[in-house]
Amino acid sequence: MTSTIDPSVNHAIQSGDSCNSDLKQGPWFLDTPGMPDTYGPGASQSDPIPVHSPRQQVLPPKYQGLSDEELHQKIRDAKATLGDRVVILGHFYQRDEIIAHADFVGDSFQLARAAKTRPEAEAIVFCGVHFMAETADLLSSPEQAVILPNLAAGCSMADMADLDSVEDCWEQLTEIYGDEVLIPVTYMNSSAALKGFVGQHGGIVCTSSNARAVLEWAFERGQRVLFFPDQHLGRNTAKAMGIGLDQMPLWNPNKPLGGNTVEELENAKVLLWHGFCSVHKRFNVAQIEKARAEFPDVHVIVHPESPMEVVDAADSAGSTDFIVKAIQTAPAGSTFAIGTEINLVQRLAAQYPQHHIFCLDPVICPCSTMYRIHPGYLAWALEELVEGNIINQITVDAATADPARVALERMLSVVPLANGNTK
Ligand code: SF4
Repeated sequence: MTSTIDPSVNHAIQSGDSCNSDLKQGPWFLDTPGMPDTYGPGASQSDPIPVHSPRQQVLPPKYQGLSDEELHQKIRDAKATLGDRVVILGHFYQRDEIIAHADFVGDSFQLARAAKTRPEAEAIVFCGVHFMAETADLLSSPEQAVILPNLAAGCSMADMADLDSVEDCWEQLTEIYGDEVLIPVTYMNSSAALKGFVGQHGGIVCTSSNARAVLEWAFERGQRVLFFPDQHLGRNTAKAMGIGLDQMPLWNPNKPLGGNTVEELENAKVLLWHGFCSVHKRFNVAQIEKARAEFPDVHVIVHPESPMEVVDAADSAGSTDFIVKAIQTAPAGSTFAIGTEINLVQRLAAQYPQHHIFCLDPVICPCSTMYRIHPGYLAWALEELVEGNIINQITVDAATADPARVALERMLSVVPLANGNTK
């Protein structure tokens, strides 16, 4: 069976088929004075946005209202003029209209490492979200400028854990645990400040591909782990390692002792931060049951940022890279129901027409912040580079960068699972 899904999420959104009709507008309308501060339409539209999250200045009017083709031409021309002086990175969850111009496409860490293969590039234009651009800055050379085309492209999950709240949590926990060692583990989807925090406190960074190996590393060094910001990746990974749910209390930073008793904390092995991804939180077991009822031979793959009951009900769970490889290596005629961001799912459906590939969520609801990177912003950033101007540069200060790199290097010393299946 071949897929009949339109390859472009934008096309579906423009025809009015999405979770919020505001997605049809150019994202610059969100940056105009007087608009409420939100992540914008899409999966994170109901999440509270931190007061100090970066804002984007309004896109210069000359880029607004241009047709897709006019913007594509501007991007192509600027890129041709810049040549090797620029490298464009496109995250899997970006819209196709951005991916069309990317030199590398991948997950956040693959992209940050890919940029290292282009040392001659003066500018790394990261079409993704804020923490990804920070990681690229940590791993690139000091001469290279990392640019995020739209500064408002943050990540609602990363924003759910800030340095002050984590330090406050750490103080409370270390007081309770005394001489017992607590290892902090931060998911790649976190600010550079938190990567620096874990680097300073004997901790480590993980990705969705290597979370289990990282937790094993942590338990070789301490009795307990504080895992942030994604509770679901932490819970799914620890559960697969045989850790009981009663040993994984949730830490709510807005409550004393995170909402736990001292006894519950003394019984804990993995403390899970109260964070989540609003894209992956949309998946549920009923969607899996429906897919199986309609397609008895369906293979359900979900990302481990999905809730535990969804991961338990799926056939397999793994990182975006795992999902892509599972589809690449499947026999022709396979049917896949995928639980991850819609842009990646529909691109895979278009790239692998020998399979039937569909998203578990029937509603088109992209990541709000990935969607903020519109071709208009990419054209603007590139044309400014042609003029010799660097806009929207993301830099991590040295005091944060040094321990953050230590935490990343520890992660690189840990061997990832062979196939990334987290089940
Ligand atoms: S998909 Fe989820 S984790 Fe990824 S950038 Fe969007 S909100 Fe953040």
